[in-house]
Amino acid sequence: MHIETFQVGPLACNCTIVADLASKRAIVIDPGGDFDAIRARLEARELGVDAIVHTHTHIDHVGCTAELQRLTGAAASIHEGDRLLYDMLPVQAEWLGMDLPQRADIDGNLVDGRAIRAGALELGVLHTPGHTPGSCSFVVANDGQTVVLTGDTLFRRGIGRTDLGGIDTDTLVRSIRSKLLTLPDDAIVVAGHGPTTTIGDERERNPFLRPA
Ligand SMILES: [Zn+2]
Ligand SMILES: [Zn+2]
Repeated sequence: MHIETFQVGPLACNCTIVADLASKRAIVIDPGGDFDAIRARLEARELGVDAIVHTHTHIDHVGCTAELQRLTGAAASIHEGDRLLYDMLPVQAEWLGMDLPQRADIDGNLVDGRAIRAGALELGVLHTPGHTPGSCSFVVANDGQTVVLTGDTLFRRGIGRTDLGGIDTDTLVRSIRSKLLTLPDDAIVVAGHGPTTTIGDERERNPFLRPA
């Protein structure tokens, strides 16, 4: 299994390519911008894309979904709970003074407990609402090691804000405790922004997750 994470767009969203190198099939997570850079990385390994998935539909995570979909013909998926936020992209663009992304043809196929497949690759979907109603985390096994992509739900030593079309902090922390902190301590956390961490590290040191 091959996993590469790199920053895209003006808000430095972490975009991740997860690939089964044997079959050369890949899933792209959060193509937030810099379409040419994403395409170059796919071409460098001759990867075909079977699915484009999104941890949530804030503008910085969906910036070049449409271009990538046109290039690859892949399905682009969100959790249905984030449909309204996606429809509000013009408003989001105004909030942040960003260019309005082209509209992709998205489906609501991200459902808690379902797996998204590409070649031998299986990406598990966890619905982790709070930062937005349809926020999801994705779990993949890499050589026996669990990797979880948490979007803007869980950061190194931080959690997501909930004032941009989100629910509330209680819901968000409940999602983290019930869906993410049940993963192994050595599970690697790839957050939506900033550095990677581990579940064990955040369980112990994240100020928002300390036992009351
Ligand atoms: Zn966000
Ligand atoms: Zn973000």
